Amino acid sequence: MSGIKPARRWQPAFSPFKKESLGKRLLAKLEVSVKGPLFGCRMCGNCLLQETAFICPMECPKGMRNGPCGGITPEKNCYVDETRKCIWYTIYKKALRTGRENTLLEVLPPIDWNKAGTETWGDVVRQIRKIGTSKFIGGIVSKDTVKKSEVWDSVFKTIRQPEWWQGDSRYHASASLEPVSELESRFRAGEFVVATEVTPPIGAGTDKLIRDIESVKPYVTAINFTDSSSARPKMSSIACCKVAIDKGTEPVFQVAARDITRTGLQSTIIGANAIGIRNILCITGDNAIIGPSPTSNMNIVDIDSVQMLWILRKMRDDGVYLDGRSFKNLPKIFLGAATSPFASDPVLQAIKDHKKVNAGAQFFQTNLVFEPDRLDLWLEQLDKRNILNKVFILIGVAPLKSYKIAQYLHTNVPGVSLPEKILKRMEKAGESAPEEGVQIALEVIDSVKRKQGINGIHIMTLSWESIVKRIVTESGLCR
Ligand code: SF4
Repeated sequence: MSGIKPARRWQPAFSPFKKESLGKRLLAKLEVSVKGPLFGCRMCGNCLLQETAFICPMECPKGMRNGPCGGITPEKNCYVDETRKCIWYTIYKKALRTGRENTLLEVLPPIDWNKAGTETWGDVVRQIRKIGTSKFIGGIVSKDTVKKSEVWDSVFKTIRQPEWWQGDSRYHASASLEPVSELESRFRAGEFVVATEVTPPIGAGTDKLIRDIESVKPYVTAINFTDSSSARPKMSSIACCKVAIDKGTEPVFQVAARDITRTGLQSTIIGANAIGIRNILCITGDNAIIGPSPTSNMNIVDIDSVQMLWILRKMRDDGVYLDGRSFKNLPKIFLGAATSPFASDPVLQAIKDHKKVNAGAQFFQTNLVFEPDRLDLWLEQLDKRNILNKVFILIGVAPLKSYKIAQYLHTNVPGVSLPEKILKRMEKAGESAPEEGVQIALEVIDSVKRKQGINGIHIMTLSWESIVKRIVTESGLCR
C-alpha cells in the first residue's frame, strides 16, 4: 500500500547497477521521495503504476507483475507475510472501484534488470517531448475520453511495453491447428479427461517412480510431475517426465517460476521439447516460506506465470526468443496454467484467469476442490468473459488418506481451504478415514462431471498413487 504510514515493505529499494550521472541520480532521488510515500514505489525502474491502480506491485513478496498468485489467505492477506493484505488483491479492488478493470488484462513485461533503481521520469519527459508537450497537455485535459486515453497511452504504453515485449490485452489462439499431444487431442475430441499426479522421489532411484507410473498408466491420459512442490527439493520434473516417456506414458512437465530465470525457462523448454515433452504447466510456485529451513530466497521471481505463458507461446508460434533471436524447428507445446478458483473472490480470480488465457494458456489445472458447488460462481464469471470456449479445465481432486492430511492441507497449503463439514467427516471417520476420503473424492467427481465448462479431473494423489485405479473405476471414468 502507499506508504503515508511507514510500513515494512518486501522488495528492497532497488539501486542501479551502474554508477549513473549526477543528474540522473538526483532525479532518481526526487522520484523515490515523491512516488515512495504516495504509491509505495520501490524504484524497479520499469514503472507500471498506470496499470496497477497507482499501487506499486513491487510490494508483493514475489514481485508478481501480472496479478495475484493463488496463495491469498481467506482474509485476503498475503500467505508469505500474513500481517499484510495481498497487494494484488488491493490493486484489483481499486481498479474495479475506479472502473479501470480492463487495464488489468494487459500482459505486463518482466523487469529489465538493467534499469532497476534508475528513474523513469526522464523517459516520461522524453516521450512527452516526442509527441509534443502541448498535444500531450491538450489531450490529458480533454473531455473526450478516447482522445485522453490515446494521448496517455502514447506516452505511458511506450514506457511500460518496451519493444522486446509488446504485451496486450488480446486473446492469442495457438497457431497450430493439429493437437500436439494426446492430452490436447482428447480435450479437442470432447472427452472428459482424467489426469493424475505421481509424486517425484526424493532420492535418485527410479524403481518406485516407475512402479507408480505403471500403476496409474492404464487409467489416465497424462501424468503430472510437480516441480519441487511446497518448495521442497525432490527429483526434477523434467527427469520424471523422461522416465514416463520411456515407459510409454504422456507427462505434464510442471515448471515453477520460483526456481527459474527467463534464460533458464527458454533453454529448458527447448530441451524438454527435444526429448518429447509436449504438455507444459506454467506455475509461479509455492514461496520458500512454506518450504524447509534454512529458508531459500523469499523475494522476487524473475518471471511470473503469465509472463512464462507469453514467452513460451511466442517461442512456439513465432519462433522467437525473448531477446528477439528467431529460430527454426519450433517447439510443439500444449500450454497449461494453474488456477485457484477459491483463492480470491470469483470476479477477481476470473480476471487473472482471463489474462492467462489471453497470454497463451490452453488448459487449466485447478487447485484442490472440496466444494464443487462453489465452482459455479467462478464458471459463471469465466463464461461472462467468453473464455470457457478457449480453455480446457481440469478440476483438482484429492483422495484424503487421513484427518491429519486434511488438516495439513487446510492449514499449510496456499490457496487450499477445506470446509468444516469435510474436516468433521474426516475426523469422525477415525480408522475408516481413507475410505471416507475416497468417498469424498467420488462425490466431488460426480458433481463436477455434470458441470458445463469442465473438461476433466486431475487427481492429486498426495503420494497415494495406488488409489487412482479405484477412483477412476468407481467414478465411471475408466476408458
Ligand atoms: S498473496 Fe501472492 S500475489 Fe498477493 S502479495 Fe502475497 S505473494 Fe504477492
